[in-house]
Amino acid sequence: MPNVLVTGGAGYIGSHACKVLKAAGYTPVTFDNLSTGWSDAVKFGPFAQGDLLSRADLDRAFAEHQPAAVMHFAAFSQVGEAMRDPGKYWRNNVLGSLNLIEAAVDHGCLNFVFSSTCATYGEQDGVTLDESCPQAPLNAYGASKRAIEDMLVDFEASSGLKSVIFRYFNVAGADPDSEVGEFHQPETHLVPLILDAIDGKRDGLTVFGDDYDTPDGTCIRDYVHVMDLVDAHVQGLKWLEADKGSRVFNLGTGHGFSVHEVIDQSRVVTNREVPFQIGPRRAGDCTRLVSGSTRAAEELGWQPKRSTMAQMVTDAWRWHQNGHYEK
Ligand code: UDP
Repeated sequence: MPNVLVTGGAGYIGSHACKVLKAAGYTPVTFDNLSTGWSDAVKFGPFAQGDLLSRADLDRAFAEHQPAAVMHFAAFSQVGEAMRDPGKYWRNNVLGSLNLIEAAVDHGCLNFVFSSTCATYGEQDGVTLDESCPQAPLNAYGASKRAIEDMLVDFEASSGLKSVIFRYFNVAGADPDSEVGEFHQPETHLVPLILDAIDGKRDGLTVFGDDYDTPDGTCIRDYVHVMDLVDAHVQGLKWLEADKGSRVFNLGTGHGFSVHEVIDQSRVVTNREVPFQIGPRRAGDCTRLVSGSTRAAEELGWQPKRSTMAQMVTDAWRWHQNGHYEK
């Protein structure tokens, strides 16, 4: 079974990726410093604990596990925090990725799947977002991801490193078996915050602004089920193994949901009220981020299976009630 080094494998998306990698016949090797991840979430392969900012940690992991490919999820990913502390994003995300890419090249591991973001596009009023759109991120999170995309292009030219870059939209839901799920501390993402508000773990949800230029005034996002998202990553890995070359893919469904619509669906699925109040806008938020691309479907054969809002909330709610991590 080929080894795949999964950075951020103890985190939300990385842990789900490890599950589907194992099911697809790979051995996922988690590389994670546990700054935001959970050792409890490392269930599907070995754990190489380490920090991307330490080249020695990376060299040790590459030497010991000899991965055939890298899936790079590890990053700080909160828009609000990125606005307050951009240095944290430039240092960890960009320098950490530079270390990782150089280590991968030096160890001859030339297939690289990278978790990028639609936040690299920024505000593009009325434009359908596809992979050819100019990138103009509004915050240091998006800017750090764009910089890493650029880095991958340069290293391909110098060293033959091949990459599949996924620019994903908003990720929600959980493993339907509840082996892994979404658990951040502190939590900042919409769906788990709604579920916390529903069962009284927090006073209520604050909706970040209802004066945007959208039908109900709240921001619109394109939500993808985490299981569909990680399926695409396995398909991206197979794309690289088949020598099809570097490629960028948006991962979104093309359907936008406003914050109010997510709240409404959560009320229906859980049959519980969602306490919320309207607050000010969150700095760095775009009005509308919805994918306008069918490239992943056409070229990778990616078919989202669970990415309806009802299914995402159902799976997240099951995990919310039954699953958690201790450490
Ligand atoms: N949001 C909100 N209240 C919250 C958290 C998020 O209104 O407490 C909104 C946020 O402004 C955005 C959407 O929900 O429009 C999704 O935000 P999230 O942080 O989950 O993901 P992001 O879009 O930042 O990647």
